[in-house]
Amino acid sequence: MIKSLTDTVKAGFKRLSGNNRSQAQAPLTVIPRDQHQISRSNISESALKVLYRLNKAGHQALLVGGGVRDTLLGLHPKDFDVATDATPEQVNQLFRNSRLIGRRFKLVHVVFGREVIEVATFRAPPSDSHSDKVAATGDQGMILRDNVYGSKDEDAMRRDFTVNALYYDIADFSVHAYAGGWDDLQNKRLRLIGDPETRYREDPVRMLRAVRFAAKLGFNIEAQTAEPIPVMAPLLEQIPAARLFEEVLKLFLHGNALDTLRLLREYNLFGALFPATEQCLREDPQALTMAENTMRNTDDRIRAGKSVTPYFFMAALMWAPLIRVRDEFQAAGMAPHPATQKAADRIMSQQLQSTSIPKRFSIPMREIWELQLRLAKTQSRKATELLTHPRFRAAYDFVLLREQSGEDLKGMGKFWTRLQQEHPDLIPARGRSERDDGSRKRRRPPRKRNNRRP
Ligand code: ATP
Ligand code: MG
Repeated sequence: MIKSLTDTVKAGFKRLSGNNRSQAQAPLTVIPRDQHQISRSNISESALKVLYRLNKAGHQALLVGGGVRDTLLGLHPKDFDVATDATPEQVNQLFRNSRLIGRRFKLVHVVFGREVIEVATFRAPPSDSHSDKVAATGDQGMILRDNVYGSKDEDAMRRDFTVNALYYDIADFSVHAYAGGWDDLQNKRLRLIGDPETRYREDPVRMLRAVRFAAKLGFNIEAQTAEPIPVMAPLLEQIPAARLFEEVLKLFLHGNALDTLRLLREYNLFGALFPATEQCLREDPQALTMAENTMRNTDDRIRAGKSVTPYFFMAALMWAPLIRVRDEFQAAGMAPHPATQKAADRIMSQQLQSTSIPKRFSIPMREIWELQLRLAKTQSRKATELLTHPRFRAAYDFVLLREQSGEDLKGMGKFWTRLQQEHPDLIPARGRSERDDGSRKRRRPPRKRNNRRP
């Protein structure tokens, strides 16, 4: 039987007087070991090590977030996050292979080769007595600093969605669900904890997370959670462009990018991320076809276990606004090459106001665009030379995508397909000259970002 502690924990949400945040105490449901399907074999060795060592040192240690949610849904979690009552400094002392990260939302990364386990100390809602050093909120309710520690019950209320406030307790292998999270998981329902408007104002990125989880998990966004999004979408302007870029990568690389694109547009969020592209998608059916094909191809590659190149899909998403501006320059008398370069400058600098694009992405994006002109010269005697260009493969795939989306390129795709078949020796091996994410090969383990950085 599932033990409900509703009687002992006050239900409903109560506003703290003298504080502009909502603090809540919500019903806790404990699902014992034999009533759920998480076993230790579903959890990575590294996460288990962290949980056990914390526990042996006398601390509470629970798996939380996607690691619990996805395992309960029968999916493979992307990573494992741990919640504990140990302070970041205590965690850091327990693990030699750990580092303290984040200032506004302090946490600890415990590093095992390529795997990073993120350990967060239980958070509590701050009260007026806390100094600005540990907690701060902006004029419009946005959380600027969130380092007040508390109990597990308080921590649950600081999390975003009820299905993300599921904890797996290493002490007795039970699952703890808050605020109806267990029912929501069974009913595939995404529901924010607390008052949706307040929670979006605290952190507008939660609107993007709602869409990401809905698309990735095939969940419905519950009505009250969904309702404020289209109106509050412009709040994303307050988010640093670098954080938005990280979110963009997560939005489109989980295997359901097509649903994500449709939901982002439905909720008025896509325009906040890619304003120029959104305008083209509204006005030009061919631009929409290309964006949807880009997402479909990305999803197919991910499902087939192939790598995807973020700069490729970014180049594809921004192609429609690029050619619009390029055509304007050409109509004003500029030659195709400088017109493309100047259009790329303008489109990039406009885009950087919404989401940052690191150079390791923007440089190959421009190369793909510029190569489109060179690939159009199929009569050139130097055509075979282009096959050796490090970005040839991406630029060729881009030609195919344009044709697939309805652009008439006068047989360009066929020409380059045939030329490659005739000169297989000229094509550089993939992965040697370029890596798929556009980065250099690095020896350090990949850095897991601080997801809850406000
Ligand atoms: P995935 O790792 O598959 O993207 P996740 O739910 O684990 O999904 P993370 O970004 O890894 O998401 O964050 C771990 C947990 O931290 C979340 O499940 C949630 O409980 C909490 N969390 C993360 N970001 C926020 C946020 N912006 N606001 C409130 N809680 C958050
Ligand atoms: Mg996670």
